[in-house]
Amino acid sequence: MDPDASHIDPVGRKENALSEINELQVVPHWIGGAESPSSGDRTAPVFDPALGRETKLVNLGNTEDTESAIASAHKAFPAWRDLSITKRQQIIFRFRELLNDRKGELAQIITSEHGKVVSDALGEITRGQEVVELATGFPHLIKGEHSENVSSGVDVYSTKSPLGVVGIISPFNFPAMVPLWFLPIAIAAGNTVVLKPSEKDPTAANWLAALFTEAGLPDGVFNVLHGDKEAVDGLLEHPDVKAISFVGSTPIAQYIYETAARNGKRVQALGGAKNHMLVLPDADLELTADAAINAGFGSAGERCMAISVVVAVEPVADALIEKITARMSTLRTGDGRRNCDMGPLVTRQHRDKVAAYIDVAIEDGAKVVVDGRGVTVDGDENGFWLGPTLIDEVPVTSRVYTEEIFGPVLAVVRVKSYEEGLHLINSGAFGNGTAIFTNDGGAARRFQTEVEVGMVGINVPIPVPVAYYSFGGFKDSIFGSSKAYGLQGFQFFTREKAITSRWLDPSHGGINLGFPQN
Ligand code: NAD
Repeated sequence: MDPDASHIDPVGRKENALSEINELQVVPHWIGGAESPSSGDRTAPVFDPALGRETKLVNLGNTEDTESAIASAHKAFPAWRDLSITKRQQIIFRFRELLNDRKGELAQIITSEHGKVVSDALGEITRGQEVVELATGFPHLIKGEHSENVSSGVDVYSTKSPLGVVGIISPFNFPAMVPLWFLPIAIAAGNTVVLKPSEKDPTAANWLAALFTEAGLPDGVFNVLHGDKEAVDGLLEHPDVKAISFVGSTPIAQYIYETAARNGKRVQALGGAKNHMLVLPDADLELTADAAINAGFGSAGERCMAISVVVAVEPVADALIEKITARMSTLRTGDGRRNCDMGPLVTRQHRDKVAAYIDVAIEDGAKVVVDGRGVTVDGDENGFWLGPTLIDEVPVTSRVYTEEIFGPVLAVVRVKSYEEGLHLINSGAFGNGTAIFTNDGGAARRFQTEVEVGMVGINVPIPVPVAYYSFGGFKDSIFGSSKAYGLQGFQFFTREKAITSRWLDPSHGGINLGFPQN
């Protein structure tokens, strides 16, 4: 534990210049409206991926920290629930204004820990801000219903109440956007929150918490508990945590879903992906090649909605690959702060894992068209670099096709017909996102009906729904029945009470053991 941790501000700067020379900054928890260093001494390293070196440490929460974060949220709940809708709404509005004014600062933090280029970091914040904007209109979205005189003098109405303390567990690839998928809605609806962000890029969560405090959110309504499995398990098992929202890889999503459900919690768990782009022979190939590049290599492929497989319906493959390859040669890989197109991968370990798939492709008989291992970068040579990679003729039995790679590796599979392409997409384990590229409206409409995937793009490669729809896939890409944000978000974070009321009229009294009828 950093003895100086109390001097660390939410963005991880240290006031004490002397100790900065000797030791790394430690990102503390945020509990009860203030930084809160761990009571234990476990930490994890945080890297600047473009520099390839450890720049900070993050506290890993133990049982005591987890108890403290949950207790803080539990204590804050009754007063927050009872605060008027207008006052809660004003806080969300203020938060939206502060976020909008200062998102450049947050983007720099994201780039320094995740590696994505600054413009992309700003993009993720803007998509998260959309949900904040949706949440400013929450009074309309948590209204109940009312029926008068369901029986003589009897009214029935419903209310939507908050659940209590809710836990959010988020992945490394969107350190601001994914927490913001849930946070504004959970808070607006009157819940209190413990967020367990990814330990790989933890600082954005503290920055958001500090901003909420500045916006007037009462202490304890939003807490950040850093950590790994120990902190997560603490949330999953604690009786005061009423619901869990998780986003991450499929094996962990399944574990979260099963464990939280076994402990009686409401749970939504969004998992991994392998998103296909089906290209019909009549597609506009310039648009399609641009889309494949943007969706395949944006954020170095570390997006759950990245396109990782191009399914080319022949005879389109050769011409399309030529156009994609030409565009790839123009991409600049490098430090996200230097106006490059693509940054590094998040850790060296992940970079090496992704690069190893290129060897698997060669062993499995695929054709490596562009090998990103030889990339020239605009940045520190120690960064976790892997350039854009294109692999053609990938056998569908290869792990390159069947597994989520989560890096800048775009596979091409050639098929003979729409039906063969559709069958391939529907046979996969995941069902997060997909896209069809065509100028045939009938084919696109048929695809939208027949494809077994939760989010579908038609000539749109990354069909992330706007905030007033909901985000989520099918099959191994989601566990639980509720998607993120939109109306489903408000349903997830509230529970409905149905109230049947009669104001007493003595003439209606009397004993009747029959089942109530109207
Ligand atoms: P991850 O599953 O490794 O981690 C996600 C969260 O779970 C982190 O907070 C992490 O600390 C925690 N965690 C990790 N191992 C755990 C364990 N054994 N027990 C309990 N908690 C554990 O995912 P990641 O690498 O951070 O993120 C990338 C993954 O997330 C990819 O698979 C990607 O597709 C997926 N993702 C999905 C969506 C979606 O909406 N479906 C969105 C973003 C990312």
